[in-house]
Amino acid sequence: MDDLPRCRRATWAEADGWADRVAARVRTADAVPETIVGLTRGGWVPARLLCDRLGVKRLVSLRAQHWGVTATRDGHAELTEGLSGPVAGQKVLIVDDITDTGESLRLARDHVTAAGPARAETATFLHIDHATFVPTYTAETIPRGAWVWVVFPWNYWEDLVALAEKAAQHGRGVDRVRATLRERCGLDVPRADLEQVARRAGIE
Ligand code: AMP
Repeated sequence: MDDLPRCRRATWAEADGWADRVAARVRTADAVPETIVGLTRGGWVPARLLCDRLGVKRLVSLRAQHWGVTATRDGHAELTEGLSGPVAGQKVLIVDDITDTGESLRLARDHVTAAGPARAETATFLHIDHATFVPTYTAETIPRGAWVWVVFPWNYWEDLVALAEKAAQHGRGVDRVRATLRERCGLDVPRADLEQVARRAGIE
């Protein structure tokens, strides 16, 4: 993978649409859960949006870690914090934002299954076609040849700092970094946003 990945900036409106689509698929399957497990951190916002759409009151968290800084994989996925509440006997939906390798969601599903739920299904907003684990429900599939780092609205500033740091290796200064992000990552970032993170990202 290039040190500067191709990126796609997702909007809140897209996230709303993905939540609508996943919720509709869960309802069509007559599989509204009693508990949603949100994988922290990427799955928290999607999990909360699905609670709202599906009328689910119980939201439990589980911490999976895989990717370190933006688009840099940190070895194998690990569950670093367990379930924040019991799921035994419950119909459970485990939610994350995206399945890329699929390792995080597979680990989460196995962990939840071992806790004795009545049912454990999985959902992500986006699914990359090369993932070794396919979620039960997803809103959109990205073809395997079209891998991108999706800059989700709930990770925008963190991604921007990490990408700007990488871009600065090709030349410093806000304008230069902005041009590198546009050319190498396909990311059009407002100048004011880069100015805001310039010190943190060390690009000045
Ligand atoms: P994975 O275990 O590879 O399926 O990825 C797990 C987590 O890493 C996801 O929940 C995301 O938060 C993050 N992630 C992995 N790949 C991407 C990507 N292409 N774009 C944005 N986030 C990603």
